[in-house]
Amino acid sequence: MKVFFNGDYLEKDQVSVSPDDRGFVFADGVYEVMRWYGDHFLGFAAHQKRLLRSLAEVRIEWPAAYKLEVITSELIRLNQLQKQDALFYLQVTRGAAKRNHVFPLPSIIPTVYATTTAFIPNSAAVEAGIAVISLPDERWLRCDIKSIALLPNILAKQKASEAGAQEAFFIRNGIFTEGSHSNVFFVMNGVVYTHPESGAILSGITRNIAISLCRELSIPVVEEGFIASSLDMADEIFISNTSGEIIPVVSMDGQPVSGGKPGIVTKRLQETFQRYALIANA
Ligand code: PMP
Repeated sequence: MKVFFNGDYLEKDQVSVSPDDRGFVFADGVYEVMRWYGDHFLGFAAHQKRLLRSLAEVRIEWPAAYKLEVITSELIRLNQLQKQDALFYLQVTRGAAKRNHVFPLPSIIPTVYATTTAFIPNSAAVEAGIAVISLPDERWLRCDIKSIALLPNILAKQKASEAGAQEAFFIRNGIFTEGSHSNVFFVMNGVVYTHPESGAILSGITRNIAISLCRELSIPVVEEGFIASSLDMADEIFISNTSGEIIPVVSMDGQPVSGGKPGIVTKRLQETFQRYALIANA
């Protein structure tokens, strides 16, 4: 497999990262993930914009982010993924320097690593839905930055996995914020509720597409966090992320949601999303 590493296209086993890399030492870096639909990325411009924003927020300078398309198209070509589904992963860390919390001086160059890997969608989850658990949100308040520091997300997903569930929903101040690797949506009386953009969530590219598709379908959307104690009133629940698109939730903390099967609004949005993703080339 060919990967991108600090300006070069290499075999993966030729990559070596310094043990002084601040990504390794401090999780001092950001990342992006995009889905390739055989001949285009969905939401390329939005992903690139979010990457530029994450980099700016953590003050890492990587000017090549403006030319991301060169890297993505070269990796797709080198790995012969032109006609397949794939995921693009990119990580940029502040670089390698003697351990010190303060930014290194003179400034160092970032470490950049990117891959494209063939991807098979989880059709069982997409069709039958998933089980989720809920947990207190113990993360920082800059979840809007797509940081590689994912320890709370990993611990939450591990708990979900140990409970036989596929995702963990975070609750902060009695309100559902997002999932460990997804945004979360609740349907109540035909209205879709999702947490507003803020430091409490990552502004998912899939979330934002889902919101615009709801509006096109005349499904009302309210960007308001769903109150955890009102869970019984949710008719349907679904999640969104780049790899899964729209995935129904059919149980929460062991209790069935929407009768234990994907809800009608969720299905309608999911089908619309699937069609949109195949043609949307922006
Ligand atoms: N929130 C978190 C915490 C995530 O990790 C992800 C997936 N990266 C998302 C939301 C969904 O974002 P996107 O739709 O851009 O994949």
